[in-house]
Amino acid sequence: MDDCIFCQIGQTQADTHLYSDERCFVIRDIAPSAPTHLLVIPRQHVTSLQAADPAQEVLLSHLITIAEQMARQEQVHQSGYRLVINQGRDAGQGVDHLHLHVLGGKQLPPLG
Ligand code: AMP
Ligand code: ZN
Repeated sequence: MDDCIFCQIGQTQADTHLYSDERCFVIRDIAPSAPTHLLVIPRQHVTSLQAADPAQEVLLSHLITIAEQMARQEQVHQSGYRLVINQGRDAGQGVDHLHLHVLGGKQLPPLG
């Protein structure tokens, strides 16, 4: 998708990738809401979790596996971290390319 910022970053900004493989890459969020705020982004343009096909189950689990690996690399695996996928308007999804947030490095606000 030519007009998708995450597709563009995946294709052209390899120097910003903290991790990269054939299925996904990881960048730092441009507007971090925690000291560690990473985005795990599939290379395939899937607009949202809702749009993911059941056949992409393996890809979804890969994103979580890489998130766990990145949390370890960022040294937040012992203090704790949060994984977030914003789905749609009510969740405030701002980029229509599926991504997994990895948040840590501080006490995160309770969800409820
Ligand atoms: P979401 O609200 O779940 O769609 O999250 C989108 C995230 O992408 C936000 O936290 C933005 O700060 C982040 N973001 C948008 N553009 C960029 C960019 N060019 N580089 C890194 N992060 C970005
Ligand atoms: Zn895209």
